[in-house]
Amino acid sequence: MTSQTEIAVIGAGIAGLAAARTLAEAGRSVVLIEAQNRIGGRILTTRDPATDLPIELGAEFVHGRPPELLDLIREAGLTVYERKGDFLCYENGKLGDCGFFDEAFGVLEDLPESPDIPFAEFLTQKRVPDHIAARATAYVEGFNAADSTRIGTAALHKQQQAEKSVSGDRSFRIIEGYDRLAQFLCDRFTTFGGQLHLDTPVIQIRWQAGDVCISTANPALPEIRASRGIIAIPLGVLQSGSPRIMPEPARHIDAIGKLAMGPATRITLLFRDRFWGASAPNLSFLFADDKPLTTWWTAAPNPSPTLTGWTAGPRALRAGAGTARKEEALATLSVIFKRPDLSGLVVSDHAHDWQDDPFSLGAYSYSPAGAVTASDDLAAPVDRTLFFAGEHTDSTGNWGTVHAALRSGLRAAKQALSE
Ligand SMILES: Cc1cc2nc3c(=O)[nH]c(=O)nc-3n(C[C@H](O)[C@H](O)[C@H](O)COP(=O)(O)OP(=O)(O)OC[C@H]3O[C@@H](n4cnc5c(N)ncnc54)[C@H](O)[C@@H]3O)c2cc1C
Repeated sequence: MTSQTEIAVIGAGIAGLAAARTLAEAGRSVVLIEAQNRIGGRILTTRDPATDLPIELGAEFVHGRPPELLDLIREAGLTVYERKGDFLCYENGKLGDCGFFDEAFGVLEDLPESPDIPFAEFLTQKRVPDHIAARATAYVEGFNAADSTRIGTAALHKQQQAEKSVSGDRSFRIIEGYDRLAQFLCDRFTTFGGQLHLDTPVIQIRWQAGDVCISTANPALPEIRASRGIIAIPLGVLQSGSPRIMPEPARHIDAIGKLAMGPATRITLLFRDRFWGASAPNLSFLFADDKPLTTWWTAAPNPSPTLTGWTAGPRALRAGAGTARKEEALATLSVIFKRPDLSGLVVSDHAHDWQDDPFSLGAYSYSPAGAVTASDDLAAPVDRTLFFAGEHTDSTGNWGTVHAALRSGLRAAKQALSE
């Protein structure tokens, strides 16, 4: 059976949902096709009755004050709180203030747009002292899920400018949970007549100008035909060659190959109480560069007794998964806080393996040296028929964020409407 529609949107993450909602509200006939049995993609929120604050397994922070995202949060009637508290480091066996932070961030202020070289090479060329280079590398890899021997200075320069424009040094959380934002977009989409198909992985997209034929692995809906298609699936999935796009749009496939999908590992432990209060009462972020999980954060100033451990970039691939990850996390915290009894304090632990998830195949994208314009190429329409969306198609320097995904979805909807 073939289903016919005006516009098909593939992928119900924030990008696909934002595009689908905009198009449905503009009166278009739209289907939204999602591989999994849930919406949200890399927004994945869980709840534990032992704490009021939802636990995020994917995106957690609103980075800075990006207007599109804050407007949407407001429209959805959701509330944010600003993350505040102390930044501490665990170094040489001691928990205390972090050294060389200003010097490390100073390095990022000085990045050349041209020539666009890998960050690690830039550090060597500039003869940045080892201890400052190590801290700057830990930050760049941890924040961007990137390999410092690949991520380009031009992309980092662009990202620094983008962050400044939205006060990116501030961060916020949605009290009701990030998933409520995805649900709001979906509700608007269906209220305006949009059709959502879950459990429908797309395996092939055949197209010619004005005609898109989408094959799926859902036997109840094997084929969907549309005049235009928005492809809002993650870079990692596109790089795996699935779904196959025929004929291949050469410029876009080339751009997909140039960008990189970075890995990240995270675990949130919910404790009976905020045991760290004795040694670090206002703890917000804790950096432990020599541990398998290098970055830790609390929910401060929210009192939820959670600690989240994080490692991204090449080190994420070496961090354990499953039970090993929980044991590693507890071992690290026991050493840092000198509390050998921590396992008895754990109420629950929460993690998701983004690298192994076939519908993300990584955490988020970054731009290697020489690829800073690849996302611009991806954002260009293909013969007025196919449009790519998703955080990796962001051309404003915000790769790897929810606001980048949201912007890209709004951009793709506008492109589809104008064709
Ligand atoms: C661990 C982690 C932490 C993060 N933390 C933050 C943060 O604090 N702040 C922030 O701003 N960003 C963060 N991000 C990044 C943010 O989550 C993403 O940039 C954003 O959610 C991506 O949205 P998207 O719509 O581009 O892609 P996705 O959310 O990945 O949506 C793509 C959708 O496509 C579907 N799909 C895949 N293949 C197919 C197929 N073949 N057929 C049909 N559907 C398919 C997927 O199931 C998915 O639903 C984090 C990401 C991760 C993984």
